[in-house]
Order: sequence, then structure tokens, then C-alpha cells
Amino acid sequence: MTTDSGTGTKRSEEELRALAAEGSLLDDTDALAVARWAAETFPGTLAVACSMAEGVLPHLVSQHAPGVDVLFLETGYHFADTLGTRARVADELDVTVVDVLPELTVAEQDAKFGPSLHDRDPALCCAMRKMEPLARTLAGYEAWVTGVRRDEAPTRTHTPLVTFDEKHGLVKVNPLVTWSLDDVTAYATEHSVPVNLLMFDGYPSIGCEPCTRRVAPGEDARAGRWSGLAKTECGIHT
Ligand code: SF4
Repeated sequence: MTTDSGTGTKRSEEELRALAAEGSLLDDTDALAVARWAAETFPGTLAVACSMAEGVLPHLVSQHAPGVDVLFLETGYHFADTLGTRARVADELDVTVVDVLPELTVAEQDAKFGPSLHDRDPALCCAMRKMEPLARTLAGYEAWVTGVRRDEAPTRTHTPLVTFDEKHGLVKVNPLVTWSLDDVTAYATEHSVPVNLLMFDGYPSIGCEPCTRRVAPGEDARAGRWSGLAKTECGIHT
């Protein structure tokens, strides 16, 4: 992976902030144009985050950035259907799936902290299995693209289209902010994009198996994540 459009160096924070400001002026209803801007602005330094609920975002970005890196947080706790979708995305789309791995395997974490840490301290479990590995990986990029949508939950209502990600120190692009879940599934159908079968089985938002349940009719899409706990986000997008 190169780190700049030819110079071999990652641009400065000041330059990235200016690019984020430029991107924030784009039309938030034109996801393909936003993806094109991201691909042209960050050639070789762009990553796409994907939970493998479906491959819509990787497909969208790969139209303008063939072979783009798709980051998959391989926590060791995924549903079998999610791993199957990951395999299909890698096989069927013009992308490079990158497994983002925690320092500790599940067995090593169990040995050090006891089994089922996700039940006792999900914040620590997420910090070790998602947040630290993602932060370490994003350090090598200038921008990342996520599938966050404003309609997913009240915590996401004000998600910007493009912003400078203060937590990770790079530009964050959210081309699907104005989309609904129906828009996502319609795109997947139209473009024959792999979809996780759990999406049709009551799981509109899919995370690790121990921390995800089916949602009931009328619940928001993320109601099944860490159900019964005060925790609603792993911390990556907050
Ligand atoms: Fe651990 Fe659950 Fe967070 Fe996955 S979602 S990293 S299992 S606490």
C-alpha cells in the first residue's frame, strides 16, 4: 500500500483536515459520488470498514477504487454466517479483505481474564478485540469509509457525511448516511452483492455472536446489540 498519491508519505493532519472540510460539502444523497471523491482524493490510502452484514459498501467503493482494502474486525466471536459472507465478499468483489486481529486470541484472553469477558466487562473486551486493533490498522491510512447510517439509532442521527476523525487521526467518510436499510438491501439485490443471511432472520445489525440478539418489530436496527446493557456502541464510531 502506498501512503500518498505517489510521494510515499502520509499527508499532514492539516492537509487531511482541509480535505475533510472539502468532502463535507458534497451532496449527502449521492453515495456513489461521495465514494468516487474518496477514491480520487485518497488513492492507495483508503480503507473500507465492513462488518460483513453485507458487501454493499465494499462494492460501492470498489467501483472507483478496485482492489481497495476492506477491513474486517476478526474478533474471534463472529457468527458462522458472517464468516461465510466475509469469504463471499473476498471471492466475488474486486476488493482486498484485511482481517484486523486482536493481540490476544480468544483462548489467550480467556486464560488471562477468565472466560466470557464479554458478559462481565464488554467495554474491555471491545477495547481489546475491536478498538485497539482498528486504531493500530487505521494508522496506515489517510481515510476510511464506513457504512454508518443516521437511521440506525438515535446515537447516529447527526452522523456527518465527511469529517476528520479525531480519535483515529484520519478522514472518515460515511457515504450511506442518508440511506435506509431498504436502500441497502435494494442496492445489494440490484448489484448481486453478497448478503449475510442473518439480515433476513431478524438481525439488521450484526456484531459478535455473544453480544447480538434478534430485534423485535418496531425496535431500531441496533437494539439487538449488547441488549440489556447500558452499552450501545463498541466505541469505534463514538
Ligand atoms: Fe467482545 Fe462482545 Fe465487543 Fe465482540 S461485541 S468484542 S464479543 S464485548
